Amino acid sequence: MALGESPLVTGQRPRYECLLLDLDDTLYPLSSGLAAACTNNIEDYVNQKLGVKKSRVPGLCRELYKTYGTTMAGLKAVGYVFDFDDYHRFVHGRLPYENLKPDPVLKNLLLSMPQRKIIFTNGDKVHASKVLNRLGLQDCFEGIICFETLNTLSQITENNNDWDMPIVNSTIPATPITCKPSKESIEQALHLANADPQRTIFFDDSTRNIAAGKRAGLHTVLVGTSVRTEGADFALESIHNIREALPEIWEEENEERSKNVVRSRGAVAAIETVITA
Ligand SMILES: [Mg+2]
Repeated sequence: MALGESPLVTGQRPRYECLLLDLDDTLYPLSSGLAAACTNNIEDYVNQKLGVKKSRVPGLCRELYKTYGTTMAGLKAVGYVFDFDDYHRFVHGRLPYENLKPDPVLKNLLLSMPQRKIIFTNGDKVHASKVLNRLGLQDCFEGIICFETLNTLSQITENNNDWDMPIVNSTIPATPITCKPSKESIEQALHLANADPQRTIFFDDSTRNIAAGKRAGLHTVLVGTSVRTEGADFALESIHNIREALPEIWEEENEERSKNVVRSRGAVAAIETVITA
């Protein structure tokens, strides 16, 4: 243990300061049908706009997604030329957003958590904002780290990668697009969020994103299953189960409140303030 990391010292600081939360299939269930519709739309785009033979499309998309993090990152990496906004409009524009309903239970949970909360998604800004609005969660987050945040125009350069490049040490082959689960995307998100990985909890429904988050030193919660996979500190069937699984998110606040009560013993007004806060 390094100097400055002893429990006596760290005990003075909250254990968790920041929550990084994925959006799709993490803040709402897979059963909403958005993911399935998204896959269909991507396949239609690759067929209709990029001219790939229909029979080859599902296999190609699967491989690119598996290797490059997102199908879009893979398409760019292997040399397809297309406009990012056009892709996002086509793929997300026709999603059944009406399937997403306001989630006041999740809203109350999020608002009651004392930590900073930031969305970390591979999706684009318009999509993220539509989903959050539909769920009624638009006011629950300090910020959104999304496709545009991770990929400023200056960072996106033309592809010079080799499609056959092998995956070494679990790293994703280079692609001009920054997205989860690349190490770079997670480091960038932590930098943008100004967050210390050791005091940050990362929520995602993707097992490989969770594994990558753990490699970056984050506390991790796999959402959508109760089975923990590699790198997952916790696994939640639903984000709604968070209080039962991770009471420590609220404990610091409770501890702080108890301290305030003890400090204020005898001062009725102060105790009332704590109770009613
Ligand atoms: Mg997701």
